[in-house]
Formats: sequence, structure tokens, C-alpha cells
Amino acid sequence: MLSVSGLSAGYDSINVLHSVDIEARSGEITVILGANGSGKTTMFRTISGLIRPSAGTIEFDGSALTRRPANAIVRSGVAHSPEGRHLFAKMSVEKNLVLGGYTRRRNRARQKALLEQVYELFPILREKRHDPAGSLSGGQQQMVAIGRALTADPQLLILDEPSMGLAPLVVQQVLDAVVEINRAGIGVLLAEQNAAKALRIAHRGYVLAEGRVVMAGTADDLLRDAGVQEAYLGM
Ligand code: ATP
Repeated sequence: MLSVSGLSAGYDSINVLHSVDIEARSGEITVILGANGSGKTTMFRTISGLIRPSAGTIEFDGSALTRRPANAIVRSGVAHSPEGRHLFAKMSVEKNLVLGGYTRRRNRARQKALLEQVYELFPILREKRHDPAGSLSGGQQQMVAIGRALTADPQLLILDEPSMGLAPLVVQQVLDAVVEINRAGIGVLLAEQNAAKALRIAHRGYVLAEGRVVMAGTADDLLRDAGVQEAYLGM
């Protein structure tokens, strides 16, 4: 589905990613583990067309995405829910949600159905749809950020640290929603600090360190790996 090969990228003269190879298969949850600063956000922003790679290729469903503009990448079926949410705090929940659909330009009936799916996934957002997004709790704001990516009708959803700063119970709610999204047939590429929880819902994973893939395998392989247990699972 998504195939990233030999990807290098960074900021001005600083190279952050060094020849990264990853795959995110259709219908699976793929988790990217890595310490702060290991390059997860840089990788996601490069896949989404927000950073131009200096080398490598990005393919999605057989089409080349490398160096295509961000809006074209959304239209090809890849939507990104960024770290830190980036909501419009004064705009209503519903206005934030429908923003995700503008680039994809689905017809009105499809847009309505997508919004309805978001409200079914997160019923609290229906209740609060007229409230300013900034008035919601952290967990609810994260639901808006995920919901906004879903209204772009993606085949692949990139989620950058969706549980950051949330209480443990809310973390689990967000990850349960990720499972539900995936069950509906959407592939998920997920960066997550809660490594144990993330590996329990994922099919496959990668460990990034200093911009390089240092480990790849099934989620079970990673859960059993002594190095992963020590570095990420606190065992
Ligand atoms: P985190 O969990 O902290 O977000 P990450 O794995 O997502 O970490 P990145 O945010 O991709 O890592 O950062 C990778 C490296 O790139 C870090 O050394 C960081 O300082 C650097 N970096 C990130 N954003 C910029 C920027 N806008 N300009 C210059 N360097 C940056």
C-alpha cells in the first residue's frame, strides 16, 4: 500500500532521515516507535508532502507520491493528523471537522456520510458540534483532529502521537478508536509514545533511532524483543 524507500529528508542543511525504508500495508496498523527527535514527525511530514525529501521514493497504491504537492497526496488517499492537533480553537467542532474534506472534494452526500461516520465513532463530538473546538478537553480535541483527517476519506491515515498529553483512560479510548477505524478498512500509520499499548493494537512496527530504521517486524516480534522491552516497554 504505502512504500517508502531510501527516504532522506531534513531541514535546510540538517539531514534528519537517513535512507529510511518502511511499508504500511493495506488494512493494517503500522506503528513507528522512537525516542523524541528520532525523526517520526519528519518522516510523516515528508510522506504528506510538507517537507521535500532529498532522496528516496514514496509510493502509495502503486502511484509515485514523491515530491507531489500536499493537496495531491491527500487526494490520492493519504490523510495526516499532525502532532499537536492544530485545530482552529475559535471555530466550531463541526467546522474543524469538515475542513478535512475540502481538499478531497467529495460530493455533498459523501461528505455528509463521512461526517456522520465521525460522529458515530466519537458521539461526544456530535453533542459538542456547535462548541468552539478550543473549549473541548484534550482527548476530545484529539478526536476532532482524527475526525478531521477522516473527513478527507483516506485509505491511509497517518496519526502522529495521538495520545500525547492525555490521561491513561483517554489514551486507551483514542487507541480503541484507532482499532475501529482500521476495522472499517483504513490503513493506519501511527507514531506513539505509549509503545506497549500501541504494539498491542498494531500488526507491524518499526523502530527509528537518529533518523534510521533500526528494527522492523511484526508487532509480536517487537513486543518480545529484549531491546524493545528495555528501551520502550520499561521491562
Ligand atoms: P518527537 O516525538 O519529539 O516529535 P520525532 O521522532 O517526531 O520526535 P522529529 O520531530 O522528526 O522527531 O525531529 C527529528 C529531528 O529534527 C530533531 O533533531 C529535531 O530537533 C529536528 N527538527 C525538527 N523540526 C525541525 C525544524 N523545523 N527545523 C530544524 N530542525 C528540526
